[in-house]
Amino acid sequence: MNDQEHIALADRWSAHNYHPLPVVLSHGAGAWMTDVNGRRYLDLLAGYSALNFGHRHPALVAAAKEQLDRLTLTGRAFHHDQFGPFCRELAELTGTEMVLPANSGAEAVESAVKIARKWAYQVKGVPEGAAEIVVAGDNFHGRTTTIISFSTDPEARDEFGPFTPGFTVVPYGDAEALRAAITGNTAAVLLEPIQGEAGVVVPPKGYLTEVRQICDDTNTLFVADEVQSGLARTGATLALDHEGVRADLYAVGKALGGGILPVSAVIGRADVIGVLKPGEHGSTFGGNPMACAVGRAVVRLLATGEFQERSRELGAYLHSRLSELDGVAEVRGRGLWASVEIAEGRTAGRSVSEALAERGVLCKEFHSTLRVAPPLVITRSEIDFGVDAIAGVLGGGHRG
Ligand SMILES: *Cc1c(COP(=O)(O)O)cnc(C)c1O
Repeated sequence: MNDQEHIALADRWSAHNYHPLPVVLSHGAGAWMTDVNGRRYLDLLAGYSALNFGHRHPALVAAAKEQLDRLTLTGRAFHHDQFGPFCRELAELTGTEMVLPANSGAEAVESAVKIARKWAYQVKGVPEGAAEIVVAGDNFHGRTTTIISFSTDPEARDEFGPFTPGFTVVPYGDAEALRAAITGNTAAVLLEPIQGEAGVVVPPKGYLTEVRQICDDTNTLFVADEVQSGLARTGATLALDHEGVRADLYAVGKALGGGILPVSAVIGRADVIGVLKPGEHGSTFGGNPMACAVGRAVVRLLATGEFQERSRELGAYLHSRLSELDGVAEVRGRGLWASVEIAEGRTAGRSVSEALAERGVLCKEFHSTLRVAPPLVITRSEIDFGVDAIAGVLGGGHRG
């Protein structure tokens, strides 16, 4: 089948909840993908940070293959030999005390919401059914009905109600608004340390420290959604590490599965996650042997610090190159995670990603911004290739 036939098939037989670029990929290695015509593309999206270690990192593929030949699934009715080690190693890497394994990022966030509510009733003494969770405007925490109940994006919400009650939305980055929104019934504050889908929005300096303080002052849990910001993307294992702030619970996912399979978790305080008792929460695939084996290999890669350092150093280079480009109004983000605000009057929107694809670079645009979040294995010269392509597209010129 050629690429047009593949696209026609997807169009006819799949739900239309995405609008992919007209590129049909069949192979990937490191920071590169190849399409069915043999054309190579530099990956500047990295599966929304699920591919922090690049496509088919040899250590991750080896761990998956080895586990595939031993044991793939047990269900949590039984123990298996990857489970305890995975939980311990992930907790030790992140300086947390307990792990609740899950699959998708949304599932981890949902689980954190449930834990926070149960904690509020059992420990904080909130009257049953009255727990509140304070969240930020422009958040992105996933696509389940409860999670979209506190989205502020009409596209994510409209005609999907009725919604789950118990959430209060305050502006992101405004500590005073957050403090004012907390009541005696507040179980938790749920935030992204950097808002990914909102456009890689970094909060004002000191904000996350203040959030921690407010939570301490009011006996409220701080739940950090690090599904996208975590696991080396920003140049630290967790984005909150940059501020020296600890959350009570973290949701992690995406890169935890090494780009091979979905792996997520709630990690954090043992006395908080410990409110869950047998039968109260579960997941058929959560913590399965394949997921744990790949997750352990991911933790081993992160334990070297190499990827965090690459993100810091190459991220500084990426940001400096992007901000010097003609046609760029602003560059936001941290580490190898950038959102480029395209200057008014320049090509913006989908035609930017399409023109980039023609130049061998795959990227995601959103209105007048361009997301640049390559796999952390990207090299300096590959960054140059990507930035030169962006320069070419924004400049409107053609360079072969
Ligand atoms: C992607 C994302 C999620 C949802 O993860 P899924 O695996 O798609 O369910 C949750 N929170 C944040 C911050 C994300 O970026």
